[in-house]
Amino acid sequence: IPQEAIMPIQLLDDRLISQIAAGEVVERPASIVKELVENSLDAGADRIEVVIEEGGLRRICVTDNGHGMTPDQLPLALARHATSKIDSLAGLERVASLGFRGEALASMASVAELSLTSRTAEAEHASCLVAQREASVRPAVGTPGTSVDVRELFARIPARRKFLRAPATEFKHIRQTFHQLALSRFDVAFRLSHGGVESVALAQALSPAQAKRRAADVLGAEFDAHAVPVDERAAGMRLTGWVATPGFSRGQADRQFSYVNHRPIRDKIFNHAVRLAYRDLLHNQRHPAYALYLELDPRQVDVNAHPAKAEVRFRESRLVHDFVFRSVARALEAAESTPTESRAI
Ligand code: ADP
Ligand code: MG
Repeated sequence: IPQEAIMPIQLLDDRLISQIAAGEVVERPASIVKELVENSLDAGADRIEVVIEEGGLRRICVTDNGHGMTPDQLPLALARHATSKIDSLAGLERVASLGFRGEALASMASVAELSLTSRTAEAEHASCLVAQREASVRPAVGTPGTSVDVRELFARIPARRKFLRAPATEFKHIRQTFHQLALSRFDVAFRLSHGGVESVALAQALSPAQAKRRAADVLGAEFDAHAVPVDERAAGMRLTGWVATPGFSRGQADRQFSYVNHRPIRDKIFNHAVRLAYRDLLHNQRHPAYALYLELDPRQVDVNAHPAKAEVRFRESRLVHDFVFRSVARALEAAESTPTESRAI
């Protein structure tokens, strides 16, 4: 066996750096949907449409009616470590936007064909930039807002493409991600279609009753029938949302949605606190269903713990754990002493 030649140390070129970084940000089509919808939310959109073809392997297109970008900003949007959301360490410590790393679009452009079309409210027409293929921004047709079209994911990277599952499976992940985002902001209308067929359509929900109906659209009629409201405050924190009584539990943990300051999160401490509140009510193998929203001072939570921003770190994790546990336990206790039929929304 021939020995591989020892290579001298050299700096990687930008494209390769992006492809390596993309491994952390773009795991599968659902990760692209997440990053694009987050950008639309950060742009202040209140209407977001997601169009998918072949489980996202062929195409993922997200269109919003947010503030858009001027033509000169388009090349920057695709540049690595370029962001309009923070400009200092202090900004990072109190970041309220979903994005801040400035690498999502650049990562996508390095592993797929990406085109960006955007128009601000003041502009007379939209502008379009196709990543890599052409360096120049050209005029395009479009209403105010932004549309990002991502095609042929990993087509030129067979080693990554190999790890993707069948389109139907990838679409399931996309739908789960979409549901999680759609429940993060009730004031935004969301649509999802797959292969030209509408899959989910959620109108803006501006009243509490509409919000509950929308949660039921996502979590199912059975969840709705068992959902009890949570609304507690303590120590500068607030927890709202719904938890299902143990009468509605699942074999899988697929109806658990948690948010910190409207950011979808997966957090062991948070999950554990909820689980603990159910401990005497639910068999070990069963999973509770819930949609819970924690609000607290942004400085009390570090959102920069994970490249996909799915994990957070709480400064006072003990305090958060106790608060979530007590709030959920109290809601479940109240539900036990109230017959289902007489429960208000
Ligand atoms: P980040 O969201 O972390 O800033 P991205 O790579 O996702 O990084 O986006 C880079 C920049 O492009 C954003 O900071 C924003 O200024 C701009 N941008 C991206 N998507 C949109 C959008 N849908 N509407 C308006 N601006 C956008
Ligand atoms: Mg982003």
